[in-house]
Amino acid sequence: MIFRKILYVLSLSVLMPFPGAPADEVPRVVASILPVHSLVSGVMRGVGNPSLIVRGYGSPHTYRMRPSDAVKLHDADLVFWIGDTLESFLRKPLSSLPKPVRAVSLMETDGLTLLKNREGGLWEHHHPALRTEPAPLPGTRHGNFVSPIQKHPEETEQHATLAATETHQHLGYNPHIWLDPKNAKQLVKTIAHHLSEVDPVHGTRYEINASDLLQRMEDLAERLRKQLSGLTSVPYLVFHDAYPYLETRYGLQAVGTVTATPDRMPSARRIAELRSAIERLNIRCIFREPQFDAKVIEAALDDANITRPVTIRVLDPLGVGITPGPDLWFHVMENHARVMADCLGPTARSLSDLGCSAAEKRISARISENFR
Ligand SMILES: [Zn+2]
Repeated sequence: MIFRKILYVLSLSVLMPFPGAPADEVPRVVASILPVHSLVSGVMRGVGNPSLIVRGYGSPHTYRMRPSDAVKLHDADLVFWIGDTLESFLRKPLSSLPKPVRAVSLMETDGLTLLKNREGGLWEHHHPALRTEPAPLPGTRHGNFVSPIQKHPEETEQHATLAATETHQHLGYNPHIWLDPKNAKQLVKTIAHHLSEVDPVHGTRYEINASDLLQRMEDLAERLRKQLSGLTSVPYLVFHDAYPYLETRYGLQAVGTVTATPDRMPSARRIAELRSAIERLNIRCIFREPQFDAKVIEAALDDANITRPVTIRVLDPLGVGITPGPDLWFHVMENHARVMADCLGPTARSLSDLGCSAAEKRISARISENFR
């Protein structure tokens, strides 16, 4: 009964995005995660609002579907997601919907640059089984990077029934594709294309919105280039391998991750590897993420008895701390550049200027103390 009520209320909210607008004119669009929701919102500006699955501080790596999510998918005309290498929780629900729904896996986007997950050394990602012996620490920024590949045009479109099997070919590729402005432009084009096909009445509006977004993205990419240009030789660690697209585009020098999988504490071996990397490569910044407890990094550094000053800052690749909507993606990108420049740049400011949490200050102070 309660479920029925929820279903009724939700269907009202998606059917009537604007008071007075004829309900059947606006497609019901669902986006999986905040950055995808942001790009879709930008293309749909003035027409309607997509709904969002992974809300608040949720992480697509650990998310569990709620009944209200199932209702959104059930009612949708169009679903945008990255693909089952990121939102694996969507694979089954999308392939078992009672009616055909156009589910667009954005990993399949034409013209996208895709990068392999980095493996070996401190780049163990989601496939620890693939690794045998620990590899030497990467001495160069490219580590085990594989060159970007271009997608084939025939791989662009697919429907829910095909989504599960076809996206398996992207296992091994890093799914955080939106953190490169050039990729994001391709995503906007694909989103506009699918919206126009499902809703040709608003096709012109989608096209105009998309071209506005592309221009803003171009401007942003140029600003980021200037902001990040001086940081290409400064090594740092990240919480999990979420930033290869940003790093490759701007030549940044991440050397590894704190944890191999975002939902697990680092192992004792990983902690020893971290200490070795921090000492040998003179790491002065570690970037954590808002969804994952600062304690994971604190404990790792604590156990490792680090003897160099290390600053912990927060990067937010999903934008969980930002108001959802068309501007979220732009803020995510600007925040990354600002935080990285703050921590890695030659004029890196003191801890109190950086707005670190008390825990971060404590650990940094303790680490600095060890250094002395
Ligand atoms: Zn991730």
